[in-house]
Amino acid sequence: MEGKAKIVEHKRPKLGRLKSEGRIMVITDLIYEGKAKRIYTDPTGSESVLLEFKNSLTALNGLKKGSFETKGAVNRDIASLIFKHLEAHGVESHFLEDSGEISMRVKKVKILPLEVVVRNVLAGSTPKKLGLPEGKELSRPLVEFYYKDDALQDPFVSDDQILMMNVASQAQIEELKFKALKINSLLQKLFSKANIRLIDFKVEFGVDSGGKIILADEITPDRCRLWDQ
Ligand code: ADP
Ligand code: MG
Repeated sequence: MEGKAKIVEHKRPKLGRLKSEGRIMVITDLIYEGKAKRIYTDPTGSESVLLEFKNSLTALNGLKKGSFETKGAVNRDIASLIFKHLEAHGVESHFLEDSGEISMRVKKVKILPLEVVVRNVLAGSTPKKLGLPEGKELSRPLVEFYYKDDALQDPFVSDDQILMMNVASQAQIEELKFKALKINSLLQKLFSKANIRLIDFKVEFGVDSGGKIILADEITPDRCRLWDQ
């Protein structure tokens, strides 16, 4: 999927020569195209990348598909609002700045191949699997890990399985849980201001150039199960 070039608009006239209405047009290369986003090289530096939010909707690992116009722009706005809110409350993420309408500049990280899920209420497949009632409020949030591998359909992995596969160390597992729970309590408060209950959500983390684990990818309604309060 590499090799496609794209012209993107940048807010700040940093590079390039073609000026159009105060914006600079620069060419970037497509690095990766996923189900929900595209990643492009950042013409302003090699330590960052541009994350573009697509209009596509997918469910069940791409089995169900759809799309609607402006979805990418809305999701980019929500993701950047959430990253800024978390940053202001001490959660470091890859977010650097918005760029254009549907993309953001983020720190390039090495993504840990783990989907970190936090649940406040049992919903979806979990209550069925455990023979518990749907909608059961948990006395403390659950953190679960899934191994990020499309071909394997992102299977659930235990802490010991993560260690066995050398995906993360014990200390990193504890750090991921701690960070995921902090994000959870901040997001619960944020959503409740809009009369929304955060039932569960998924996040990804990456390791930055200094070896630090930071929040990466996206937090959007696509990654959250939200119910009315
Ligand atoms: P997928 O279909 O693989 O879930 P997405 O559509 O979510 O892909 O595209 C985003 C991809 O970019 C994901 O594989 C995600 O792990 C990766 N990614 C997210 N943030 C960063 C980052 N800061 N640096 C490098 N890769 C990232
Ligand atoms: Mg993804």
